Amino acid sequence: MERANAWKKYEDTKEVYDFAEDYRRFLSQCKTERECVAYFAEKAAQAGFQELDALIAEGRTISAGDRIYAVNKKKEMVCFIIGSRPLSDGMRILGAHIDSPRLDLKQNPLYEDTELALLDTHYYGGVKKYQWVALPLALHGVVVKKDGTVVNVNVGDKPGDPVFGVSDLLIHLASEQMDKKATKVIEGEDLNVLIGSIPVETTEEEKETVKKNILDILLKEYDIEEEDFLSAEIEVVPAGEARDYGFDRSMIMGYGHDDRVCAYPSFMAMLAAKDVEYTSVCLLVDKEEIGSVGATGMESRFFENTVAELCALSGNESSLFLRHALTNSRVLSSDVSAAFDPNYPSVMEKKNAAYFGRGVVFNKYTGSRGKSGSNDAGAEYVGWIRRILDERGVNFQTAELGKVDAGGGGTIAYILGNMNMQVIDSGVAVLNMHAPWEIISKVDLYEAYLCYAAFLEAEE
Ligand code: MN
Ligand code: MN
Repeated sequence: MERANAWKKYEDTKEVYDFAEDYRRFLSQCKTERECVAYFAEKAAQAGFQELDALIAEGRTISAGDRIYAVNKKKEMVCFIIGSRPLSDGMRILGAHIDSPRLDLKQNPLYEDTELALLDTHYYGGVKKYQWVALPLALHGVVVKKDGTVVNVNVGDKPGDPVFGVSDLLIHLASEQMDKKATKVIEGEDLNVLIGSIPVETTEEEKETVKKNILDILLKEYDIEEEDFLSAEIEVVPAGEARDYGFDRSMIMGYGHDDRVCAYPSFMAMLAAKDVEYTSVCLLVDKEEIGSVGATGMESRFFENTVAELCALSGNESSLFLRHALTNSRVLSSDVSAAFDPNYPSVMEKKNAAYFGRGVVFNKYTGSRGKSGSNDAGAEYVGWIRRILDERGVNFQTAELGKVDAGGGGTIAYILGNMNMQVIDSGVAVLNMHAPWEIISKVDLYEAYLCYAAFLEAEE
């Protein structure tokens, strides 16, 4: 039972390439969860979405067709289009995450060693540490000063910017390193980013004058001092744009496809939706890569509280009305899937693997060691999904992450499932998942967009 290659259905691929080009630009520009939220919030406002807090402050009521968004602590976001049915009939929710694996600066990061200035890091999410050395890196994030001033940092990606990086050992002296296990070749404490090498001129016997020079530059360019790193969030990410990949330009290589390749088409499907029957939702969360924890992760009460506010604005403050709105909802919990890699066939089971070009991927279940930690979508729900996609001619495939005992992974799906919603894992297949440069197929991205649009507009 093989699924069709989606490229074959397009006589004219212009719409596929145009959509992918807009996505490529977005991905090149937005390398942190904060940058994604800022980008989507601006686009939402331009498209007539109103900020929830403003509606509450004005004492407004809401009705069908209203477009609303809410931002949580600059790292998580949700958009709504109010449907013609009451909220208690349930919502159609597109969920995805906007955090990606990277290196975060430690709170006390700056030091000097042998007249080199470096920044110490703590990696975020599941990374093969040896992949993060000897490549150009950029610094993106914020420094918040004691008076509340937020200083934006974004260096390494603009033309003419310097880049940074973590050094690797030269092959000539690596005989011992080359015998180590891959988990030990580069260890967490080896991920130190080199940022300068000029000692500043001093008259006295001053030490650490390279670090001093860097601090002088930071003071001049950003008006920050060393102690301000204590309240900073600076992410070290691969430097450079996402690029077309392959002679046929059918793929994109970029940083952070996981999971912005699902977040972007989810959001774009929201922008395109109108006159929806069920309230449409696009939920873009943080912290998925470290377990969906904390205030801005899927485990947070933010989403439930925001829906409660909407219920109240629609004139229904009873807690039962909110419970109905949640329980009757349907969710596409979108995250990337592992694309079949001809270089590593041994970890895949070919009948149940995701392939580039075969469209949006559905995982009935995820998890590891016997589906542990999985949301297992009900067969009735999967049947409905098949129908609404076939009716629209959207190409889709079904997959597991890999062979049963090869490993596994989790997503935000089970957390929405805990609210008793109907949830299925869906998304786009990725090669090089969690590497600095991941790869996706442009037609899979476009089929995901078509799938999300079909989902928001589908009848019962
Ligand atoms: Mn993911
Ligand atoms: Mn991931």
